[in-house]
Amino acid sequence: MSLKLDVVETDGARIRDLEVEEIALPGADGQIGVLPMHIQMISVVGIGPMRLVLKGGITKLYALAGGFMEVLHDGVRILTESCEASEDIDVERAQKAFDRATARLQTLSPSQEEEFKAVTASLKRAQTRIDVAAGKFM
Ligand code: ATP
Repeated sequence: MSLKLDVVETDGARIRDLEVEEIALPGADGQIGVLPMHIQMISVVGIGPMRLVLKGGITKLYALAGGFMEVLHDGVRILTESCEASEDIDVERAQKAFDRATARLQTLSPSQEEEFKAVTASLKRAQTRIDVAAGKFM
């Protein structure tokens, strides 16, 4: 049995009607696993690695930038800012984004709460891209 996965980024569809056997991705508190026949639900998804087991058993890793997931009886739809497959990640760019965010964090004061959140999210996206490109999945 399998389910169909759609991933829609802000500027268009990234994955359309991909047949998968299993999806593991970051939820609001910890990992979420979705298998065929999962109950219908809507959930927030976090920034982190997403692992797909494709129909036939091949595993693929993606860097997910957070958003929402809708689980329906025959498929899953994820709405996200971005979702890169491991082979599409530019590691040098991610490392630069990581270094930039780390440096920026050190200059922030406690009153800059909104910017702190934005920079922390950027750091997490960069770390996820670096980990996913290296084949790491938590
Ligand atoms: P950067 O400062 O490197 O742009 P960012 O965190 O600002 O990093 P995002 O806003 O997360 O970048 O993403 C913007 C777009 O660039 C998205 O379409 C995303 O898929 C793509 N992108 C960002 N970083 C990478 C990367 N390292 N490799 C491949 N695509 C990336």
